Amino acid sequence: MRKIILIALMIVLVTFVIPIAFTKKFEVKQVASNEGQQENMESLENEKTENAEALNVEQNAYTNHATIKLLHKKENTIEELNMEEYLLGVVSAEMPANFEQEALKAQATVARTYTVYMIENSKEKHGEADICDDSTCCQAWISKEDRLARWEENERENNWKKIEDAVYTTSGRIITYDGKAIDAFFHSNSGGKTEEVSNVWGGTDLPYLQSVETSGEDAYSQYQSEVILTKSEFENKIREKHSDFSINYDESECIKVMEYTEGNRVKTIKIGNLELSGVEVRTLLGLRSANFMVEIDNDNIKFSVKGYGHGVGMSQTGADSMAKEGSNYEEIIKHYYSGVEINNL
Ligand SMILES: [Zn+2]
Repeated sequence: MRKIILIALMIVLVTFVIPIAFTKKFEVKQVASNEGQQENMESLENEKTENAEALNVEQNAYTNHATIKLLHKKENTIEELNMEEYLLGVVSAEMPANFEQEALKAQATVARTYTVYMIENSKEKHGEADICDDSTCCQAWISKEDRLARWEENERENNWKKIEDAVYTTSGRIITYDGKAIDAFFHSNSGGKTEEVSNVWGGTDLPYLQSVETSGEDAYSQYQSEVILTKSEFENKIREKHSDFSINYDESECIKVMEYTEGNRVKTIKIGNLELSGVEVRTLLGLRSANFMVEIDNDNIKFSVKGYGHGVGMSQTGADSMAKEGSNYEEIIKHYYSGVEINNL
């Protein structure tokens, strides 16, 4: 209710008060111009500059956040899109449309926040463009045409309506910490506990990206997976990066986890003569996450993996699970991002 009053006040301000203020200033200048031409010209110039600056700030904020320049990576073309129109393509590419509506709304808010963060903090990443459509680089995006074509005909209308609802009901809302858009990481399934950012990419941790638990993720297919490699496949994959790799399977501790992270993932693991991070092992062997157990089984090395993705920020399946339990999108967001606010752009 308070918000409605605030919005109404803003409308009144924009429609009546601001034009009146400008008109008044202009009238004063007109009168003053009769007195001292030179002096007046200068102050008029100054005022113009001040007004222009004020207007530019507003226009920039509006331009930056109302439209985005999307780089289509494969085609190497840049397309300018309305922010919400762009987000329809992100949400429908990043989250299954059959997820709960509140989870889709959380995803829309997270995607909008990530986009604003990119515009404000990673200007150089893609030159002229604000963001790209590659999920491994920025966030995935799909055109409406392609998206509809990939859904079964009987679910197209309902699915697209859910995506539109998720984007438009959260329109202009972003997640902030200390008044700034957060770096809103998200992933598919945390395996039960999310990860701190430093354990994945190094550097310093962010206060709003703490390790938090979610229940219910085990109900999704992304929760558990297995990778079985023959010993020679396993060795070859590691040698692609570490040519000096050697291992003696007769040694009882030839593969041993040395340390776990806050989010229960492998932090460091000794494999033969190497000591690797869990994140590197994940990449080298194509595991779904760094939350894994290893077993040597005769000629094979077996990895049992929990979760899917880097594990930082919002878990999408966790969000869906929370929504099923009755949480709304703001509660979901505040669960995965510690100490944040949700504000209008
Ligand atoms: Zn990118």
